[in-house]
Amino acid sequence: MDQQIRVGFEKDDRLDRSRRIEWLDTKKISESSALVLGAGAIGNEVVKNLILSGMTRLAIVDFDIVQRSNLARCVFFTEIDALQKSMKAEALARAASSLVPGTMIEPVIGRVEDLPIDLYKKHDIVLGCLDNFNARLHANSHSRFARVPYIDSGMQGAIGKVFVSLPNGPCLECASNITHSKIAALRYSCTGTSVSFYMPLVPAEITTTSIVSAMAVREGLRLLSSKAPPLEGQMIYYDGLRSILDIMQVDIDPNCPNHS
Ligand SMILES: [Zn+2]
Repeated sequence: MDQQIRVGFEKDDRLDRSRRIEWLDTKKISESSALVLGAGAIGNEVVKNLILSGMTRLAIVDFDIVQRSNLARCVFFTEIDALQKSMKAEALARAASSLVPGTMIEPVIGRVEDLPIDLYKKHDIVLGCLDNFNARLHANSHSRFARVPYIDSGMQGAIGKVFVSLPNGPCLECASNITHSKIAALRYSCTGTSVSFYMPLVPAEITTTSIVSAMAVREGLRLLSSKAPPLEGQMIYYDGLRSILDIMQVDIDPNCPNHS
């Protein structure tokens, strides 16, 4: 109350403008934690948006190292990180923690496929920021098992997709088509680590990355705030070159193993 009568108090409050947004529950967001899978281009943007929105507890998972080719799309990585071949999860956690004092970010070095289910259960939402479709399916099914909402984001060139999967709703596998099924068998890294099948490096730039990541985080904030339901079971499709945003309904596939 004292704060409300002090002239200029709003200028000292980091989240003052956020608190003025009706649907945004900044208190709930500050009390929540997120598991971020992938510390690449999307992961950098997602973490930035989460902590600037007031979230103070995160875990970031990645097995890869920082390369110089990452620097055009990753706001938290530096030339020194690339030179020293820093682990992406550690470099992102270190830099993001210094952006907002009091933020606690746990870096986890490892593959999504090797994570214990307890790590999912420790968090309120899971954000998939992965370039490997197989890992995304794995993350979605394990989030469902842990009863934690999963928000998937992916992009290729100027095309981006965001999908919200709640524990009782349709999953990424329900939304898959035959093309995805072929990709699911592949496993590769953008740095060439642990490659079992080479994919051509896809074109990517920061503007599409920023937009897709922002949409994913906004769905997470809507979900946590409970005042503006997220687009559950609907795929957000973004085409940056045509400036098109579309929503595609995804239904539970009776043949999907995640619902049996
Ligand atoms: Zn499914």
